Amino acid sequence: MKNLKLGRPGGTSPAAWFLGPKAENHDALTHLVTRAVASHAEARRRYMPNDPEFVSAEERAAKPHQQTLALLGDRLNDMLRALNGSLPLASYRNQSHMYWDITLPGSVGYFAAMLYNQNNVATEASPVTTHLEIEVGEDLCRMLGFEIPTSDARATGAIAPWGHITCDGSIANGEAMWAARNLTYLPVAVAAAIRAEERLSDARNLTVQTTDGTRARLLELDTWQLLNLPVDQAIGLTRRMVSTTGVTSADIEATLPKYALQNIGILDFYRRHLSEMPNGSPVVMVPATAHYSWPKTAAMIGIGASAVWPIALDADGRMDTVALRRALDRCLAEKRPVLQVVAVVGSTEESAVDPLAEIADIRDEYRQMGLEFALHVDGAWGGYFAAMLREAPPPQPGDEFRAPNAFDRMPDQQLSDYVRRQIAAYPRADSITLDPHKSGFIPYPAGGLCYRNGDMRDLISYTADVVFHGGTEPTVGVYGIEGSKPGAAAAGVYLSHSMIPTDRSGYGRLLGRCIFNNKRFHAALVAMPDAGDIFTVTPFKPLPVERAGGTPSEIAAQIDYIRREIVDLDNDALIEKFTLDEKVRAIFKELGGDLSILNYAFNFRTIDGPNRDMALMNEMNDAMFHMMSVQTYHAGRPPEVEMFVTASAFAPQAYGQDFVSAYARRCGVDPTPGDSLRFLISTTQNPWLTATSEGSFVPTLMRILRRTATRAAQQVMQRHGLTPPQ
Ligand SMILES: *Cc1c(COP(=O)(O)O)cnc(C)c1O
Repeated sequence: MKNLKLGRPGGTSPAAWFLGPKAENHDALTHLVTRAVASHAEARRRYMPNDPEFVSAEERAAKPHQQTLALLGDRLNDMLRALNGSLPLASYRNQSHMYWDITLPGSVGYFAAMLYNQNNVATEASPVTTHLEIEVGEDLCRMLGFEIPTSDARATGAIAPWGHITCDGSIANGEAMWAARNLTYLPVAVAAAIRAEERLSDARNLTVQTTDGTRARLLELDTWQLLNLPVDQAIGLTRRMVSTTGVTSADIEATLPKYALQNIGILDFYRRHLSEMPNGSPVVMVPATAHYSWPKTAAMIGIGASAVWPIALDADGRMDTVALRRALDRCLAEKRPVLQVVAVVGSTEESAVDPLAEIADIRDEYRQMGLEFALHVDGAWGGYFAAMLREAPPPQPGDEFRAPNAFDRMPDQQLSDYVRRQIAAYPRADSITLDPHKSGFIPYPAGGLCYRNGDMRDLISYTADVVFHGGTEPTVGVYGIEGSKPGAAAAGVYLSHSMIPTDRSGYGRLLGRCIFNNKRFHAALVAMPDAGDIFTVTPFKPLPVERAGGTPSEIAAQIDYIRREIVDLDNDALIEKFTLDEKVRAIFKELGGDLSILNYAFNFRTIDGPNRDMALMNEMNDAMFHMMSVQTYHAGRPPEVEMFVTASAFAPQAYGQDFVSAYARRCGVDPTPGDSLRFLISTTQNPWLTATSEGSFVPTLMRILRRTATRAAQQVMQRHGLTPPQ
């Protein structure tokens, strides 16, 4: 299948990568889909051409057949009409959840493979699409920066990464946590089995490297040391038994299940192997912003949702590393195994990026103290942004796209230095969740999970026993939670990656534009309210001058500067300015959410001055959310909503009272202890938002926000008998 390989240059015109907000590439899509149908029909005919038809020509011409197809046409029409009422995701006006349009190759690839309906649960049910999934898995690993060893290095035991497509990010997170649990407890089971089982006696002198880098006999380690074996040592434990002692895979398969947690369950495991550590229940650490798939998985794998410790956040909504250290110290003191520490890169609501590089340093530091844990990145949103950092192959002659200007060639220059540093640290993680169906512009369902050390997948494979390393690669479906899974999902990702490479020439360029647009949206938003407006707006992300503790007049001056030097310029002028004016560039880099999601809250002014009541401010933002979303069943016509946003709340229980109070004060209200603060959310996943055929669409969005805010402010004041300013 040498024509089915990723890592080659893709298409050079981004205008041909999507159907387009106005279906500009309608003809192309029709043509491609028609070809997919024709090719599929042809394949049916070509296989055993002499087999009989099921439906004869006569039958096809008969009335019932004709009527049935006509009925199908009617019923389809009903559904098509209803579907017109769906959310207009590809519109510039959709500035809400983590979605926008899907790529043209993504949808065509999915559709073409869907006609074959292959099941990637096993190669025998999907000879082609399993291959595509393997290609895609490797491409995702490359994009994240996991090093792929040469086949020679692989033959001599070099660690090789591995990735696969899951139905979504929740399942990918679940697999990672499940693997981390099994990993932590495996050495305890192996040591107990070697001690008790005659068949494994040859492994009694097996040595391992411990967290301090020295070698020791496995059987001489105490339970706490076994629970904290370095990740790669634990993953390779059974393989080393087979390669360095007389024990065979069959010996391990016959004995280890009697000891392994995966088989005997957590209750028996603790009773039999960990009775001297009654307080040592396991812990998974996540930032307080973590997606709810984390407690859900913990409940499912039997460690309980309360084993997930939410680590406090700093003022930017990122994991506070001082709080992380405190939690790790506690586990060290109480001898609680830490299964996993999760850094979220792009939190679901605010796209906050946790300090991954520092967390990886902290892991190295605690490893020296004998505490080991698997480090996971929940990059369901942030994973694909790694493409911004990856060099594209050198441009070919005539390859206009890959060298249009320095701005598109180096999209990562727009990332704040902080965010860039964290994304560059991806290869230091043990496992990474990333969703093609989020920032990869791919149709649902397509999540993904990549392991730095691909053998980690064996810890949760089921048909192959927990410890069995067969060394063959026939299938991808056994290494996960799912059973049947669409080969079409892998095919969609494959075709998309093949046209839009996972480097700066493809996805990096697209996501770079999204980041750029998010910053332009932020700039326009702070500059939008006039002195005459009855509302104010405060993005959660502070301006550089606010961060530096600037006075109100300094803040106003920076907003003026942003209006003049950024908002009022078109894209070309702004990009040109970046090369001439370091100050504009530096301020621009610090705008926007960490990764293209902006949170902001409106407040209103009465005749007596700014509203100070947080409950009334919440009411206003709620009203705005309702005016800019669809809340009920709706079908038939596109919803009559001028612009879509979504909304959420900062709850003191999750974010901490200090965090919520600080933001409330920035918005101009007095915090009410215990109460949540409502805010609006806009995800800028549209690369063309500021570059339509008629220029930027952001001014239109600002006009809508101004109108909506004015209406909501009037509503709230009327309801509460307050007088607007004159
Ligand atoms: C969306 C998201 C998930 C879950 O992904 P699904 O594909 O919706 O299951 C997990 N973590 C983060 C940070 C997310 O944003």
